[in-house]
This record gives sequence, structure tokens and C-alpha cells, in this order.
Amino acid sequence: MVKMDSNNLNDMPNEEFRKFGHELIDWVADYLENVKDKPVLAQITPGEVKLKLPDTPPFKGEPMGNIIDDLNDIIMPGMTHWNHPRFMAYFNSTASGPGILAELISAAFNINGMNWKSCPAATELEEVVLHWLRKMIKLPENYWGIIYEGGSASNMHAIAAARENIENLQLRQKGMTGRNDIDRLRLYLTEHTHSSVAKGAINVGVGLEGIRKIPVDENYRMDVTELKKAIEQDRIEGWLPFCVVATVGTTSTTSIDPIENIADICEKENLWLHVDASHAGTAAIVPELNYIINGCDRADSFVVNPHKWMFMPIDISVFYTRKPEILKRAFSLVAEYLKTSEDSEVINYMDYGITLGRRFRSLKLWFVIRYFGVEGIIERLREHIRLGKLFEKLIDENPLFEKLAPVPLSTVCFRAIPMGKNEDELNEFNKSLMDTVNSTGRVFLSHTILKGKFTVRMVVSGIRTTESDVLEVWQLLNNRCREMIK
Ligand SMILES: *Cc1c(COP(=O)(O)O)cnc(C)c1O
Repeated sequence: MVKMDSNNLNDMPNEEFRKFGHELIDWVADYLENVKDKPVLAQITPGEVKLKLPDTPPFKGEPMGNIIDDLNDIIMPGMTHWNHPRFMAYFNSTASGPGILAELISAAFNINGMNWKSCPAATELEEVVLHWLRKMIKLPENYWGIIYEGGSASNMHAIAAARENIENLQLRQKGMTGRNDIDRLRLYLTEHTHSSVAKGAINVGVGLEGIRKIPVDENYRMDVTELKKAIEQDRIEGWLPFCVVATVGTTSTTSIDPIENIADICEKENLWLHVDASHAGTAAIVPELNYIINGCDRADSFVVNPHKWMFMPIDISVFYTRKPEILKRAFSLVAEYLKTSEDSEVINYMDYGITLGRRFRSLKLWFVIRYFGVEGIIERLREHIRLGKLFEKLIDENPLFEKLAPVPLSTVCFRAIPMGKNEDELNEFNKSLMDTVNSTGRVFLSHTILKGKFTVRMVVSGIRTTESDVLEVWQLLNNRCREMIK
């Protein structure tokens, strides 16, 4: 048996790294250039990728070239292309050039930004770029920020902070179970709140029964009269209301809850107000759209995901709060080996979240903001809004389709309404329509249910999406719809 040479236990040789590094940068550039010609949705059936991969790992190392071959042959056909200009499902996340390059550098540094000392530049850059972003969105100066991996994580941290904010709970010390000295906690949201909020509530011990859904108005916004009534009723029944989660840009329709009115109630009732603006928060950077966050200066916490609509590779979510000391009380637990002599002068971000290890995520925020400039970001978002409105107009003007929700931003909710079909048949028809246009590989649209109606959603938020993409999708929908009617 040949023994491995113990002098050769190093990393990939530098020359080889350089060679494949150049090759893969070209690969990425080609990919981004050609992604528009690939099918948006992977054209495969479940299990196909697995079937092509060996059951056991290679015992001997393999040449890099083989790995890249398999990347092309096995992985690529199983890709759904989020970077595709006609990826218009869910809320998209598109990666821009500067964002991708920042991720490369971040991986190369491979720091763990748990505290200031573990990488001063990561901590200080995070402070500075979150201050920039705060100014761009026009959130007040007393908003303190931290980066988490996603909107779900940010929402969970918000609920944990809200819980910590309850007076005399002594949760840190006593926990929540086996006590009869605390009332059951109640958190308020609507059926349009993102599911991650309920997930977060489950996981911080609020439980599904502790979540109360407030009815919405005809435009899918939280009804504040109902909120007020619910809180009153809950207090009478012995619940402990502690938190309201409002949304700027709900997942189905991008509706915007009336934050000012909700803030009035939260201030009066002493409840934590968390605003989930994961997708839409970046739109507030556009001056004429800044109104969408009216009232958010009164929120206790606020989340926006730059990986959603600010052209950064997933994952980066920014969480702002006016009460970082509460967040810290909820999450700080400093082991002896993590104490540093600078602790009193610096931010140690590990004190404000569930994870100790933290990637260098601020780097991509820095690269992207600097490369495009605030102006470049504003212009791109503006164009997406224009394209969304264009599609809305096409829907409005065509008797074969109807719009199912207002379009405050660039998400359009609609369905086809061929004559002579009842509601069940329309639901069936629209599901088939969506499936058939998606199966062409030329677009990816997703759906929701609004007032019992199967609703197709079209979202413009990708950095590569242009007017011709929107028109192509419109044509495709029309053609397929007419074929189906025949
Ligand atoms: C996308 C989204 C989330 C979840 O964010 P992740 O980063 O995917 O965890 C939460 N809330 C809203 C409103 C969203 O749009």
C-alpha cells in the first residue's frame, strides 16, 4: 500500500488554485451571461440528481477538472436558476457581480466574526454599513443593527427580544415551564404574516395557541380596530399580550400594514412592535416609496433582507432595533474563553444572537452599495416598480384576466377568468395555467390563495429582468390561456 507523503498534506497548491480560480471566474461570467437561455425551473423529476451521484465518497482525491465536469453534467441540469431574468416566483434573490465577488473574498478570509477581537474589520464594517443602510432607508438614528442569516432568523430574534422585554418575567433565570406565576403570552399577526413569525413564536415558547390572527381589510392589511378589540378581550381572559408583528410587503400580495395606527396601539398597550419588511424594506430607499415605512420609526424592531431585493447573494438579513440592550439581555452569555480586554469598548455581535460563529456578511453589503451607489440601487428598484405597473396595466386592460390585489410595489396578483367557469373550475384552470407556463422553462411563477381564489403571482425584483422579459411572460400567459380555452 502506498503511504501518503507526509510532506504533501497541505492545501491545494497555489498554482493550481490560481489556474482553477481563473477558470471558475470565467465559468461564473459565462453562467451569468447565458443564464437567460437556460430553463428557469430544473426540467427533472425527483431523484434524478441523486441517481447520478455515487453512493460512496471517493477514497482518493480527484482532479479538480473532474469535479467541474460533474458540476456541469450532474448539478447544472438540477438547478433552478434564481438568477434567471424570468424567475418571478416567491420573492427572488438575485446575485450581482459585486455581491458574488464579495462572497469570494469572504470565503477566502474565512473569519468568524463572533466578537470584535476575532476580526475587528468585520465588526466595524458591519457597524458602518448598517448605519449606511439605515440612512438609505431613512430609519431613525437610534436604530441599532445586526446581520442575521435570514428573515426567519431575524423574526425569531425579534420575538425573543419582545419576550425579554416583558417586565418581571425572569425568563432568563426561571424558564417558562412549570410556573404558575405567569400568564400565557399572546402575539398578534395576520393570516398574511410570513410563516416564519409563527415558527419563531413556536420556538420561543409562545406556542401556536399564543398566536392570534387579526382579521385583514379588503386589501389584506391588518385591521387595527380588530387588533384593539383582540387585545382588550385577551386581557380580560387572562392572556398576557406582548408583541405585534406588522408587515411591510406581505408575502402573498406585498400589502402594507398600517404601521402608524398599529404603533399607536402598541405604545398605549406597552407591546413590542416588530415590523417585518424582509422583502419590501429596500424599496423604502426609493424616495417616492419611502412612505411605505411610515411609522416604522416607532417600531421596536425592523427587519430587511438585502438578499431579497438588493442584489446580494443569499444570505443576509438586517435586523434593526431601538432596544439593543433588551436583545443583548435575551442572548448574551459569555463563556470565560470568549472574554476579551476590549469588551467594554466594542460591539461583540455574538452577544446579540443565537449563533456564536458569524460569517463576514457585511462585505457584500459594502461591495454592492459602493459599486452601484445609492443612486444605482434606487434606479434599479424604480425600474422594477415600473415593470410591475406595466404588467398590472396589461392585466387590467385584458378582459381575460383580473387583478386580485392592489400593486403597491412590483408584485402582481392575478388570475385568468375565462367565461362560463365557476370558482372551483377557475381555481383548477389557473393552477393548470401556471403549471403549463412554468413547464416551458421560460418563466417561473408561483401562487397563493386570496379569498379562496387560486392566485398567480408575478414578482419583478431580479437584477437581470428587463421589459422584454415581462412582455414575454405576458405573451406566454396569453397564448397558453387561449390554447387551454380551445
Ligand atoms: C422572505 C421573507 C421572510 C423569510 O426570510 P428568509 O430570509 O427566507 O428566512 C420573512 N418575512 C417576509 C415578509 C419575507 O418576505
